[in-house]
Amino acid sequence: MSAAVHAGSCLCGSVRYRVEGGFDRVTHCHCSMCRKSHGAAFATYATVSASQLSIEDDAGRLAWYRSSPTAERGFCTGCGASLFWRDETKEPGLVAFSLGTVDTPLGGIEIRDIFVEYRADWHTVGNASEQEAYAT
Ligand SMILES: [Zn+2]
Ligand SMILES: [Zn+2]
Repeated sequence: MSAAVHAGSCLCGSVRYRVEGGFDRVTHCHCSMCRKSHGAAFATYATVSASQLSIEDDAGRLAWYRSSPTAERGFCTGCGASLFWRDETKEPGLVAFSLGTVDTPLGGIEIRDIFVEYRADWHTVGNASEQEAYAT
C-alpha cells in the first residue's frame, strides 16, 4: 500500500496528473489489448478511485480510445503515451494509471501478474506462484 501523493506525465509532458492517497491494486496485465496499447510485453497499472486522480491537460491532448465495449484507454495525442484505463460499466468510479508514467518514486510495491494466459510467447512471467487473474 502506497499512501503518498504521486505525480505523473506523458512522454511529451502535455498531460500531467496527480494521484492523492493510497493504492493497493497494482498489476502487470498481459492481455493482448494492453500489450498492443503499450507496445510492450505487458502493461503495469495501479487502480484508484476517480476522485483520487486529477488531470492537467491544458493543450487538450488527452483522448480516450474505446478498446472493448466498455473499457477506455486514455492516451496523449501528442506523443502517444498510454496513461489511463477505465471501465465505467464494470468498475464504476475507478480509474487506472500506467505506472511507467509516474515521475515520483514509488518504492517497493506489490505487483500481481494478471491474464498471464494471454502473455506473449516470448515473455517469461516471474513469480509464477503469485499469479492471479481478476474476474473483470
Ligand atoms: Zn504527450
Ligand atoms: Zn490488459
